[in-house]
Amino acid sequence: FQAEDGIRDSVASRGLGDVYKRQHLDRLKYSLNETKISCSIEDCKTEIEKLLSESKSEDGYIYYQVSRGVDSKRSHFFEESDCERFGFVEEFSFSSQTPLRVMLVDDIRWQRCDIKSTSLLGNVLQMNDAKSMGCNEILMHKNGELTEGGASNIFFVKDKTIYTPELSSNILPGITRHQVIKIIKDKKLDFQEGSYGINDLNEASSIWFTSTTKGIVGVEEIVNLETKINPECELLEICKDAFVKKYFS
Ligand code: PMP
Repeated sequence: FQAEDGIRDSVASRGLGDVYKRQHLDRLKYSLNETKISCSIEDCKTEIEKLLSESKSEDGYIYYQVSRGVDSKRSHFFEESDCERFGFVEEFSFSSQTPLRVMLVDDIRWQRCDIKSTSLLGNVLQMNDAKSMGCNEILMHKNGELTEGGASNIFFVKDKTIYTPELSSNILPGITRHQVIKIIKDKKLDFQEGSYGINDLNEASSIWFTSTTKGIVGVEEIVNLETKINPECELLEICKDAFVKKYFS
């Protein structure tokens, strides 16, 4: 399993219900198909469920990954091999998220970020540069077009409308993103999905990140961009409350 040849997913182990878990499994299956790794999704499901049932922690998530398996010789071509599966449970508190300090960076990743692969070098390098500037997330753009965070999807608010970049091969179809969009639509809030640029961030009154481990969390500052963001955002609070009620109470 050289050449970053594997896929991965993280499934929350508490409160998110069967629909949420099914979406993680569907995404795992999509990633396996797109990377042509032959592995039974039923085996993955059984193992993830075993990890969930054996988990002693109240709050946590499961990290699970599948690689193509061991190469008999170093080569760029696939050979018949048994996939290798690996997973663990991590204790984690979903309720202790504080607003993020983020850095705006070039999206230097490959062009199939819709696959949840283990190829994370682009994210890792940029996230560690950002960490050295006191940040805990990055906000990426490709040639000026907003894509996503290093480990999350992004939303922003401008003139009381909530926006998020539309799905493409440059964005991971986040399961939390999907749930948040459902909440926004249920609440009949003004919402648009499309293609947005850095100038939209200059105008935004609030910016949010979403992920399985973060839930929905606001941004307090983009360290290298002038913005008008205000930590008090009514729309953020409405979505956060609905998210917590729906999945964690
Ligand atoms: N984008 C990237 C690059 C991620 O790594 C993640 C976290 N897995 C997300 C978005 C958010 O996805 P999810 O809501 O399914 O955790």
